[in-house]
Amino acid sequence: MPEYDFRCGNCGEKVTIRATISEREKGLNCPHCGTKDLHQIFSGITFIGSSTGSDFSSFPPGCIPGGGCCPS
Ligand SMILES: [Zn+2]
Repeated sequence: MPEYDFRCGNCGEKVTIRATISEREKGLNCPHCGTKDLHQIFSGITFIGSSTGSDFSSFPPGCIPGGGCCPS
């Protein structure tokens, strides 16, 4: 049975609910306050900013770490 992580929009609690697909489609209730105002959290997905790679610009092209081409 898959687990789903939710953030409750009513009480703000993070809840992990095990439910079948059909149970989930019927609607899940927050175990803390009982509302259906649950927003699924997709964990494991990391959004990497567009600035990724800019750090490498400080190294000269062709530099091999430990290769003696740069003072260390
Ligand atoms: Zn709640």
